[in-house]
Amino acid sequence: MIASAIHLDDMLPIASSKTSYKRVDMESILPYIILPLMLLTATVSRSLTVAVMIFIGMGALYVQSRPTQKNRSPFFFSWTISSGVYMFLVFELGVLSLLEVTQLENLIFLILLASMCYFFYKMKAVADFELATGTSKGKEYSPVLTSDSYYCQVCQIEVNERFFHSIWWDCCILRPNYMYYLGGQLLAFFTLLHGTNLGLTTVCQPYILYGTLLMPDDCNDVYFEFDLAICFVSCIYGLGYALVIALLLIQQLLVYVPKYSEPQWRRLINILNI
Ligand SMILES: [Zn+2]
Repeated sequence: MIASAIHLDDMLPIASSKTSYKRVDMESILPYIILPLMLLTATVSRSLTVAVMIFIGMGALYVQSRPTQKNRSPFFFSWTISSGVYMFLVFELGVLSLLEVTQLENLIFLILLASMCYFFYKMKAVADFELATGTSKGKEYSPVLTSDSYYCQVCQIEVNERFFHSIWWDCCILRPNYMYYLGGQLLAFFTLLHGTNLGLTTVCQPYILYGTLLMPDDCNDVYFEFDLAICFVSCIYGLGYALVIALLLIQQLLVYVPKYSEPQWRRLINILNI
């Protein structure tokens, strides 16, 4: 029975694309294995923490500098999700177990995180809707593109009002979902700053910056205990992530926010001219 089932399976036309399915599966699973291994390596010593963070940063820079069509892989979206999942787990299971974070601080963290998830969920849902139906024609590539059409190299589809493609969210950023993308990135930035500040002031010796706001000061003791070290390296990774998002937000402010608000300005100028 089993033998005949295997035989039938091989006869199906899907069988030929089986290997590519396996490759895609493997690429989306890999970040869930690589990232914790890297974070665990970084817990050994300070120099290894620095080496791992530089390695991840260089990897991201290399990916970003490649032509977009080479990055057509579920690996990058999985990397984003696995980073979020591991940092969340370390915060909720590691940092909170040290009993120095108040209920209110954790509540603010969870509200920021939930709002961020909502914005990114809406960003992807709107993009899926726009690509399938709506104003952005989800049709195959044609050599003659109208003035407002762009061909996305990653989605391999012609879309209207496209701004760019985010490989880290596996999503085309168009005019209808741009505000969700920008809002999600802003919330991610504040969630990371809040979470890493709570984590670092818990595992390191803190000092009072202003009022009740603490800042980490002396972090020399963290490598002696594993649970402190894993919280510490996850926070450093989170800070690196926040830095990347900060650079990305500056790029958005300079390039895409003016592009997004251009039609509104034009309309206003037209009204004033009349
Ligand atoms: Zn795309």
